[in-house]
Amino acid sequence: MTIDTEKLIEGLPKAELHLHIEGALEPEMMLALARRNGIELPYASVEEIHAAYQFDGLQDFLDLYYAGMSVLIEERDFHDLARAYLDKVADQGVTHVEIFFDPQAHTDRGIAFETVLSGLLSALETGERELGITSKLIMCFLRHLPEEQAFDALACACRHKDHIYAVGLDSGEAGNPPEKFARVYEAARKEGFLAVAHAGEEGPAAYVADALDILHVSRVDHGNHALDDPKLVARLVRKANTTDHVSPFQSATEGHSRHGRPSHQACARCGTSGERELR
Ligand SMILES: [Zn+2]
Repeated sequence: MTIDTEKLIEGLPKAELHLHIEGALEPEMMLALARRNGIELPYASVEEIHAAYQFDGLQDFLDLYYAGMSVLIEERDFHDLARAYLDKVADQGVTHVEIFFDPQAHTDRGIAFETVLSGLLSALETGERELGITSKLIMCFLRHLPEEQAFDALACACRHKDHIYAVGLDSGEAGNPPEKFARVYEAARKEGFLAVAHAGEEGPAAYVADALDILHVSRVDHGNHALDDPKLVARLVRKANTTDHVSPFQSATEGHSRHGRPSHQACARCGTSGERELR
């Protein structure tokens, strides 16, 4: 008897543990929201957006990422974004999602924290009811911004503790080490938030160790460069409660594979999982 592996995988229930909701904005929706909100984009068509997304490196990607989210203005925009994502992954057998969102990328544009959160929550609530997908929200601090601004985001999150499960750290990693956010992470943990952080995506192995030792994260997002330090890899494997997320597509795009370390090897070498990621 032969097994159709693809069919088997398609039929399995899945959890998506690394998803930046703003990064799930599809070109069609970007154009539709731009029209709805009267926003002028530098792209005239879906094809032009696809062409722009041939990025080379994390910073190139981030520039497009922040430009794209300018179309998200009203609560219903955030709702529609999250609902479209849930509809898509429901077809792929996903039953649980843990979603990052970047409030500072919106509050910096004058969008209220509550507008973002309410839109996302209404989609997650109806998604659970109608699609059976459970979810958790992770609020990320933007690491290219000062820690004081992260404290502002934390103050907003503290008003909605029932709906925000964890804090995270994303955006441009180079030159923005975990240590920069030591105080806000300490405050967040004291407030009862779980801590996760992107580390070792473009930063060195030391950033992964610092995320563990200084930010006290229970999960490392990416962690690719941990492979440069065998002792750290052994530590991550021993520390049963720490998982790494590895993104084959993004890692290859950012050149990890040029170092002879495609990230599926990272999965095998670290003994960690290789969850799918959309950005
Ligand atoms: Zn990420």
